[in-house]
Amino acid sequence: MPNKELMNKLAKLAVRVGANVQKNQVVFIRATTEAKEIVREVVEEAYLAGAKRVIVGWNDDYVTHSGYIHMDKEELQNIPSWLIDQYKDLVNQGACLISIVSPMPGLNADVDSKKAQAAEFAAQKALSFVREHSMGNKTQWTIIGASNPIWAKKVFPNLGEEEAVEKLWDAIFDASRVRLTSDPIKEWEIHNETLLKHNQLLNRYNFKHLHFKNNKGTDLIVELIKDHVWAGGGEHAANGSYFNPNIPTEETFTMPYKFGTRGKVYATKPLNYQGKLIEDFWLEFKDGKVVDFDAKKEKDTLENLLNNDEGSRYIGEIALISHDSPISNTNILFLNTLFDENASCHMALGRAYPMNVKNGMNLSLDELIKQGYNNSMVHSDFMFGSEDMEIIGLTQDGKEIKVFSKGNFVI
Ligand code: ZN
Ligand code: ZN
Repeated sequence: MPNKELMNKLAKLAVRVGANVQKNQVVFIRATTEAKEIVREVVEEAYLAGAKRVIVGWNDDYVTHSGYIHMDKEELQNIPSWLIDQYKDLVNQGACLISIVSPMPGLNADVDSKKAQAAEFAAQKALSFVREHSMGNKTQWTIIGASNPIWAKKVFPNLGEEEAVEKLWDAIFDASRVRLTSDPIKEWEIHNETLLKHNQLLNRYNFKHLHFKNNKGTDLIVELIKDHVWAGGGEHAANGSYFNPNIPTEETFTMPYKFGTRGKVYATKPLNYQGKLIEDFWLEFKDGKVVDFDAKKEKDTLENLLNNDEGSRYIGEIALISHDSPISNTNILFLNTLFDENASCHMALGRAYPMNVKNGMNLSLDELIKQGYNNSMVHSDFMFGSEDMEIIGLTQDGKEIKVFSKGNFVI
């Protein structure tokens, strides 16, 4: 059994620091049944923080899996109007969102990936207003992780199920800075300050592009969008509340110029997409677009991801993380981006975050796109950082500044 006190501390962290639930606010929790223990803790903590009503949108991955197997593609793409109405109501009420992810890698291995993708695509399209609401920081939102047997056995294949589940919980607590001996809320105040300092420094440099190189073969230039903003750590929602979208988070990230990425990048960790693990892959970019790629495992899944829509062949995020980071130092491959993306430099295929460009939150989608913002139904992060990563930044007046040496920040 996971430590009750630590679980409560994580729940409280999600409510007070993650979503920063406000008095009389409606809270919507998205979770799977695998996470029911911590969900109950989060619900209780949300009420203690003054929530007016806490609603849980349950999902069960086995039920979803049965649907993927037995329903036909057309029915899977039919998103019920009551579900859309529920989300409309939540948005109208200014609800904050807490997602508790408890992935089940490999569960959908026997599912036709085109069918699963069609279902996901339809849901994303029908609920795109919810995504714009949260990703545009119109409300506070946060994501935390929860252990489950399938995930834990993938991460720790040599342990018994119970032991693996517990060990994964411990890793989640560690990565989230939740410890018995300290107050996680205070820890996160300090952590947010550190991340803020990094953002400010990079914003002052205002690089034209970043050049990534390592021995694995990555040789990539990522041009940054004009007036880009480096962000990471806490953010402000439209209602003024300061919140942390990801627990854990170690990243400092910004927006690439859609048509400005060129060269080749080698992933350093597998990408878990729709329950499938894409392994040992590389992408080659020209004018921002993926023009060639390969993967030793699940190349078809990578191809599906890239062919999702026009924007899924372009990147929308570039994130810097020192190799010497708490999650990286655990040496655990979580097989989930919420954790693994914080172990290593990463980029995301698909849509960008409006907040990563000056005044971006006040611009319409069309205005953003005109500036070189990438829009897509997907936002899929993959890791490419390594212990020997070198990054050179080019300033607007042509000066080269070493940003990373041997995998770590040197500025
Ligand atoms: Zn990121
Ligand atoms: Zn991302």
